[in-house]
Amino acid sequence: MTQKEKLVLVGNGMAGVNAVEHLLKLAPGKYEVTIFGSEPHPNYNRILLSYVLAGDSKVDDIVIHPFEWYTTNGITLHTNQTVTDIDITAQTVTSDKGITVSYDKLILATGSNPFMIPLPGADKEGVMAYRTIRDCEIMIDSAKKYKKAIVIGGGLLGLEAARGFLNLGMKVDVVHILDTIMERQLDRPASKMLQEALEDQGMNFLLEKQSAEIIGDKRVTGLKFKDGTVAEADLIVMAVGIRPNVELAKKAGLECNPGIIVNDYLQTSVPNVYAVGECAMHRGVAYGLVAPLYEQGAVLAKHLASVETAPYEGSVVYTKLKVSGVDVFSGGQFVDAEGTKAIRVHDEFSGIYKKVVIKDNKIIGAVLFGDTSDGTRLMQMIREETDISGMEKTAILKDNSGSGAASGVADMSDDTIICGCNGVTKGTICSAIKEQGLTSVEEVKNCTTASRSCGGCKPLVSDLLAYTLGTSYDKNAAKETICSCTEHSRDEVVEAIRSKGLTHVREVMNVLGWKNEEGCSKCRPALNYYLGMVNPESYRDDSTSRFVNERMHANIQKDGTYSVVPRMYGGVTNPAELKRIAEVAERFNVPTVKLTGGQRIDLLGVKKEDLTAMWEELDMPSGYAYGKALRTVKTCVGEEFCRFGTGDSMAVGIAMEKRFERLNTPAKVKMAVSGCPRNCAESGIKDLGVVSVDGGWELYAGGNGGVKVRVGDLLTTVKTEQEIIEYTEAYLQYYRETGKYGERTSEWVHRLGIDHIRDVVQDEAKRKELCARMDTALSVTKDPWRAAIDSKKIRQDLYEVVELT
Ligand SMILES: Cc1cc2nc3c(=O)[nH]c(=O)nc-3n(C[C@H](O)[C@H](O)[C@H](O)COP(=O)(O)OP(=O)(O)OC[C@H]3O[C@@H](n4cnc5c(N)ncnc54)[C@H](O)[C@@H]3O)c2cc1C
Ligand code: SF4
Ligand code: SF4
Repeated sequence: MTQKEKLVLVGNGMAGVNAVEHLLKLAPGKYEVTIFGSEPHPNYNRILLSYVLAGDSKVDDIVIHPFEWYTTNGITLHTNQTVTDIDITAQTVTSDKGITVSYDKLILATGSNPFMIPLPGADKEGVMAYRTIRDCEIMIDSAKKYKKAIVIGGGLLGLEAARGFLNLGMKVDVVHILDTIMERQLDRPASKMLQEALEDQGMNFLLEKQSAEIIGDKRVTGLKFKDGTVAEADLIVMAVGIRPNVELAKKAGLECNPGIIVNDYLQTSVPNVYAVGECAMHRGVAYGLVAPLYEQGAVLAKHLASVETAPYEGSVVYTKLKVSGVDVFSGGQFVDAEGTKAIRVHDEFSGIYKKVVIKDNKIIGAVLFGDTSDGTRLMQMIREETDISGMEKTAILKDNSGSGAASGVADMSDDTIICGCNGVTKGTICSAIKEQGLTSVEEVKNCTTASRSCGGCKPLVSDLLAYTLGTSYDKNAAKETICSCTEHSRDEVVEAIRSKGLTHVREVMNVLGWKNEEGCSKCRPALNYYLGMVNPESYRDDSTSRFVNERMHANIQKDGTYSVVPRMYGGVTNPAELKRIAEVAERFNVPTVKLTGGQRIDLLGVKKEDLTAMWEELDMPSGYAYGKALRTVKTCVGEEFCRFGTGDSMAVGIAMEKRFERLNTPAKVKMAVSGCPRNCAESGIKDLGVVSVDGGWELYAGGNGGVKVRVGDLLTTVKTEQEIIEYTEAYLQYYRETGKYGERTSEWVHRLGIDHIRDVVQDEAKRKELCARMDTALSVTKDPWRAAIDSKKIRQDLYEVVELT
C-alpha cells in the first residue's frame, strides 16, 4: 500500500475547508489530513452570522460540516488551537498547545483580522469587531443589558450588524466617514436610496463623521467626533475593513504584501506551502468575499489532486446586502470611467434603480436597487464578456423570455458555481433535482443549500429546475416559507391555525414542527398576527411576540425617549383639544411639538416613565403611530369650505378613521379622502384613497408614498358615503386575511392583481361576508393606553424605569 502524503490545513474556515472537501472528492485516500482551527467550532458559514445576529438562525444552523464529518472523512481536527510556528525546512507546524505535526503539503487559510481603528479608548469594554460566532454571542448578550449601539463603518458588514442590533431591540447609529454608504459597491443614487430604505427601518446615519475618541470609564459610554460632537453608546462595533491575517506566514519567512503572495496555482514563495482565502494575495488582489475564495479552492484542490486544471486567473466579484426588505446588487466595475457608457433606469414610482456599465460593447459592471432579478444574468454576461453589440438596450436589463434558456443555464458547465455563498454548482443542483425528485426552489435550498444566504441566485435555481424538469416545472408552485425556522408557507400556517384550531404562538410552533423552538423575530410577530386575525374574539394577544414599539405602544426615538401621538380624526381638531395638548406638553416638559405628515400632533422627547400619566391627562385615543394598524386618514377641507369641492371629505375621513381605528393589519395602513380630483389629501398614494368625483366617489387601492412609490389602482366607484365604508371594510378585511405579515397593500395589490381584488369586493355575497368578519374584528378592539392606565401590572411591566447595574 502506498504511503499517504500528509496534508496540514491551518485555519478551519470557509476557504480552507472548502478546498479540502473538493480534494477529498477528487483524490480520496491520497492525503492524511490534519486541520488546526483557533475557534472552538467546526467549520461554519461565516456569512450567515448576520442571520444569527438578526435572530433568524441559531449557531447550529450555520454549521457547514459538523464534527462527525471530520471523523467520517478520517480528518484529525484540532479546534481551539492556533498554529504559532512553521518550520519550512523540517516541514512541520507547531500549535500554541505544543502539538507538532509534519507535512508534505501545507495550506494556509488563516483568513483576515478585522481592522480596529487605533482610537484613544479603543481598549474599553464594549468596543469590538464583528467576525466570529463569539462576537455574535457577545453582541446578542449585550443587547439584553444595553440599549444603544454605534456601528463605525457604513459598508456591507456594518449595515448588516446595524440591522441585527435593530432586531435585537437596540437603537443604532451608523457612523460613516463619507456622505454615501456602501460607496465601494454602490453609486450615489443607489446609495442614497439604500440609506432612505434603512432609515425607514429605524437605522440612524451619522455621515461625514470622523471618529476621534471613545469615551467612558471602564466601559464605553460614547463616541466623540473630530468636530467635537458626541454620540452616546453602550456598545461600539468597528466594521471598517479587514487585513489579511499573515502573522504566521511572515514569521515563517513567506513573501507577503500585504496578503500572502500566491501564483495562479495558489503556491506561495516557499515550496509545498499554499495559501487560499482572504489571507492570500493573488495578482495584487486579496478578496473579501466567498465566491472568489471558492474558485481559488477549486483550482488548489485539483492541483493537489494532480488533476489537470486551468490556472486561477482572478475573479469578478459581486455583492448582495443581506438585509430583509432591501434588494441591492452590485457587481464588476460600476463606476463611470473613460471609455465607458451606461444604461440607467430610475423608476421613482417603484423605487427601482438600475445601472449597467458598458465598455467596448461588453458589460463590465452593474448596480441594481429595488429589483435585483437581473443580477445573476448580468454577472454571467460580465464573466463571459458577452458581446452585446446586436442587443436591444431594453433586453439587457430585462430578461423577458422567462425560460431557462434566457439565463444561459443550459450552456453552463457542471462546475459552474450557481450559489457563490455556499459554493453549490450546477452539477450538484441538477443531480439533486433528478435524484431526490425536487420540484421547487425551496426544496433545492433545503437539499443543497443553494440560495440559503441572500437568495440572489434563486432565479438561476428556478431556471435550473425549468431546464431539468421541462414543462412539468411549475414556477409559481415554488414555496416561500415564513422564515428559516419552518418549512411552512404563510398560507399553510394560516390554514393550520384554522383547521387544527391552534390558539397560541407556541402551539403553532409545536404542532407544525418549528425547527427553532423559540421562533425568531420574523415568525413570532407574524404568528401573533395570524392567530389574532383568524380568532379575533378568543385570541389573547401575545405582547412578547410583538416588536418593541408595538409592545410599548409608542415609537422609541433615537435618543431613547418616546413619542406620543394622539388620534385626531381626519386631521380635524378644536380649541379645547389643542389647549389640553399644550398644557400636557408644558407640564411634562415636552421638548418638541411637531405637526406630522398625517395631520396630527406629535409630542416628541417623552420619558418612558411619563408615558401613562401623559396619556391619562390627554384623554385622547392612541394614534397608533407605532403599529401595524390604521395610522391616519388624511383629509382636505372639501365641499364645506373649498370652492372646488364636490364631496364632504372631512366628514367621510372622520367616519372612516372612527370605523377602522385600532384595527390590526399585516402592515401599516394609511388612508386619505379628497373632496375633488385635485386630490389635495394625496389620495393616489395611500393604501386606500378616496376621491370625490361628479356623482360619487372613486376608491383607489394599493398606493404608497414611501420607499417604493406606487400610484393606487382604481378599485371601484360608489355613490354614497355608506358604500365607501362598506367597500373599505371588504377591501381591508380581504387584505387582513390574505396579506403576508409585513406586506404593505402596495405589494399585496401587485401580488394578487387589482382585477382579482376588484372581483372579490364587487361580488355582493363575498363583500357581505368580509364585512361581517370585519365587524367581529372591530368589535373586540380596545385602546391600549386605557388598558395601561387601568392596570398597575401593565404600568409596572412596561413603563417603570428599572436602573441597570
Ligand atoms: C458577518 C459577516 C458577513 C459576511 N457576509 C458575506 C456575504 O454576504 N458574502 C460574501 O461573499 N462574504 C461575506 N463575508 C465574508 C466571508 O465570510 C469571508 O470572505 C470568508 O469567511 C473568508 O474565508 P477564509 O477561510 O479566508 O477565512 P475565515 O472564514 O475567517 O477562516 C479563517 C479561520 O482561520 C483561523 N485561524 C487564523 N489563524 C490561525 C492559526 N494560526 N491557527 C489556526 N487557525 C487560525 C481563524 O480563527 C478562522 O476560523 C462576511 C463576513 C462576515 C464576518
Ligand atoms: S445568491 Fe446565492 S450566491 Fe449569491 S450571495 Fe446569495 S446565496 Fe450567495
Ligand atoms: S381636493 Fe379639491 S376639494 Fe379638496 S381642498 Fe383640494 S381642491 Fe378643495
